[in-house]
Amino acid sequence: MNVMDIFETMEYGPAPESATPALQWIKEHQPFGLFINNQWVAPTSGQYLESINPANGKPLAQVAAANSADVDAAVAAARAAFESWGKTPGHVRARYMYAIARHIQKHSRLLAVLESLDNGKTIRETRDLDIPLVARHFYYHAGWAQLMSSELPGYEPVGVVGQIIPWNFPLLMLAWKIAPAVAMGNTVVLKPARYTSLTALKFAEIVQEVGLPAGVVNILTGEASQVGEALVRHPDVNKIAFTGSTDVGRSIRRATAGSGKKLSLELGGKSPFVVFDDADLDSVVEGVVDAIWFNQGQVCCAGSRLLVQEDVADSLISKLRVRMEKLRLGDPLDKAVDMGAIVSPGQLKEIQRLVAQGVEEGADMWQPSWACPTEGYFFPPTLFTNVSPATTIAQVEIFGPVLVSMTFRTPAEAVALANNTRYGLAASVWSENINLALDVAPKIKAGSVWINCTNMFDASSGFGGDRESGFGREGGKEGLYEYVRPAWEAQERSKQASSTNGAATPGDKALHGTQPVLSGDDDEQANGHNVWRAGDESGFTAALPPIDRTPKMFIKGKQVRPDSGYSRDVVDPQQRVIGQVGEGNRKDVRNAVEAAHAASGWAAGTTHNRAQILYYIAENLEVRENEFARRIVQQTGRPLADAHEEVQAAISRLFSYAAWADKYEGAIHRPPLRGVVLAMNEAIGVIGMATPDEYPLLGFVSLVAPAIAMGNTVIVIPSQRSPLSATDCYQVFETSDLPDGVVNIVTGERDALCQVLADHEDVDAMWYFGSADGSKQVELASAGNMKRTWVNYGHARNWLDSEQGEGEEFLRESTQVKNIWVPYGE
Ligand code: NAD
Repeated sequence: MNVMDIFETMEYGPAPESATPALQWIKEHQPFGLFINNQWVAPTSGQYLESINPANGKPLAQVAAANSADVDAAVAAARAAFESWGKTPGHVRARYMYAIARHIQKHSRLLAVLESLDNGKTIRETRDLDIPLVARHFYYHAGWAQLMSSELPGYEPVGVVGQIIPWNFPLLMLAWKIAPAVAMGNTVVLKPARYTSLTALKFAEIVQEVGLPAGVVNILTGEASQVGEALVRHPDVNKIAFTGSTDVGRSIRRATAGSGKKLSLELGGKSPFVVFDDADLDSVVEGVVDAIWFNQGQVCCAGSRLLVQEDVADSLISKLRVRMEKLRLGDPLDKAVDMGAIVSPGQLKEIQRLVAQGVEEGADMWQPSWACPTEGYFFPPTLFTNVSPATTIAQVEIFGPVLVSMTFRTPAEAVALANNTRYGLAASVWSENINLALDVAPKIKAGSVWINCTNMFDASSGFGGDRESGFGREGGKEGLYEYVRPAWEAQERSKQASSTNGAATPGDKALHGTQPVLSGDDDEQANGHNVWRAGDESGFTAALPPIDRTPKMFIKGKQVRPDSGYSRDVVDPQQRVIGQVGEGNRKDVRNAVEAAHAASGWAAGTTHNRAQILYYIAENLEVRENEFARRIVQQTGRPLADAHEEVQAAISRLFSYAAWADKYEGAIHRPPLRGVVLAMNEAIGVIGMATPDEYPLLGFVSLVAPAIAMGNTVIVIPSQRSPLSATDCYQVFETSDLPDGVVNIVTGERDALCQVLADHEDVDAMWYFGSADGSKQVELASAGNMKRTWVNYGHARNWLDSEQGEGEEFLRESTQVKNIWVPYGE
């Protein structure tokens, strides 16, 4: 026997991490209470749930089963704490966050072992990845607490935040939630997943240790139906941050619709792992191991779909099988084990069910020859080949160690396959050709793209999804905005508190109170508003009847008749008919969506070009200032001077977004790795929008301009009451080189048309500025394909005010951040 033979046949010896300190800690604390107001309290129900060690199926701990009474108590504690925590200086908050990070490091091994025992994931992962990232998250956000006042001026915390997390990265998900929330001055009530509460409870102890003020962090363990739902519905919770499955995310979207609660959803995925034929296949094999067998594949962004260029597919699959044969599965506390246990018997059954379905559907399944331990919940690494893209296993998130592989020939085909699911969470691209990789990365619908690497995370680089993978980001500066709101909102809303019915308008008392600029020439308004008569400027007042100008729809750059063949009257404030517009219907909306999709090349054009076109629109609007001003007067009865001011404000706004078009660019992050992360602000895609009744021109321009400046294409339902300012823009657009389909306008009944838009599977986001009921309806309907929504819940904003009517908020709503990870070095 030579050295090589010995090397090949050598067995691994056991290298177990001791569980004793963690088991001792559990013994001393159980049954665990609920953590409310920095106190451990018994659950109102008197009930406890068993936490199981999935590696051996044996009971590990008793944790409290909270119910809605406990949720009430925790929310009340968080509310009381918010009064002072929300006003605590950033530096003070930073000191607490820093202390938490230090204490996590002090207890790092206990946390790592607890996590392995409770979840079944290997100690290698909890020790080397989960817990260090948890500490990093608190350090990073200590920095944002310190910098909040200078870096987020004009923003304030949201209030009490309900946070609900899954079981796959129990402490890491807690950190992703609590660190940004608390850094920004919010207080939280967090619900860990049913199976994995223990590290959250140890975290509660750390909260006590560092002396975080009582009530800032509250932790409630228990069942989803008792705690999760009560938290989601609680009237005194201002925001829900949820990580979990798409189905539950959808139900939370529906449950919070219209409530005004801020919402972020980090949901499921079916992420592509794209391998081009020039990739380094040995690196690819290690990448696949990390992508799908890390944490037993129970990773939202797991690279679960292997897409390989046809000419290297056989070679890669053989290499993978060799590697799979060598993976070690077993006791999660053994430091030489690659894969641990599946979290629960239910999850194991679900994996088995989907794998059986894959076989039934005709795919070829391959597993290594070795057997899994019989005690505990284990499932071997599994590879499917000969998979057709439409089958269940190619489309559904299995959330287990199961890889499905498919082949492609060209980069375009790779992108099409990569985007061929309802998800959009993450992707990996493998190629030694950086030109190819950087060309493909922006084309894949995903919040994170890893080039020649996979499953990379860092607090500095936001994480989150597109499409049915949810909306919102965690980490990075972009993640902070999930936990703040513009300070003007609360001030404005308290002023408007008395105005309950729908959006206030310039004619409404509420808005008049805040806008002296609108109170102009009362005499003119009182005597029937007709400050404009045909021919005013030209002096041509002869009794010729005006030439009829009935606006149609504006779809694909053309003025088209409404499908319905009906028109609706537009009236002035005295209810006199001043014109007609087309009565849009479902067909018109569908045509407009199709046109908006066909114009998607707009996003790929240069930002310089988009800026030029916005300037050009402004130029052409200016030429027609008088006409537009008179139209505003005619529709609203406001004085002519006001109307001119509105037109000028609209022109200025177009200039603002022309300016931003080539300046809202993103960032480069330097996480702790050799490489960079490119945080790119990407267009969302197709945005449906209802523009406000107040300021018919300015409201329209204030929403359309940022959306198209950032590369989106839009379908606009203009003000139902005063649509003529928007329809007058047709000719401005036509003379401004705006490509066909970038802006599409459908007039008619606002809420009915918005319902069609919000239901439409091919619309990526909905903006709605109308009534409270309409806002609710849009949020409800948008749950279908998890559209991002931006609604006003019936509250007006002062569109003339540059803080409320333009700026970063609009740009942020027009974009989503894609983080492209580019490691470098040989
Ligand atoms: P889950 O949706 O079943 O549960 C997630 C959490 O929500 C748990 O705490 C659960 O108790 C609670 N919950 C369940 N129903 C609820 C309801 N009706 N109201 C309120 N709360 C409710 O998900 P899971 O099985 O725990 O986790 C796996 C899922 O999480 C996968 O789909 C995975 O992709 C996703 N995930 C996403 C990310 C991300 O960042 N995008 C990260 C991790 C996991």
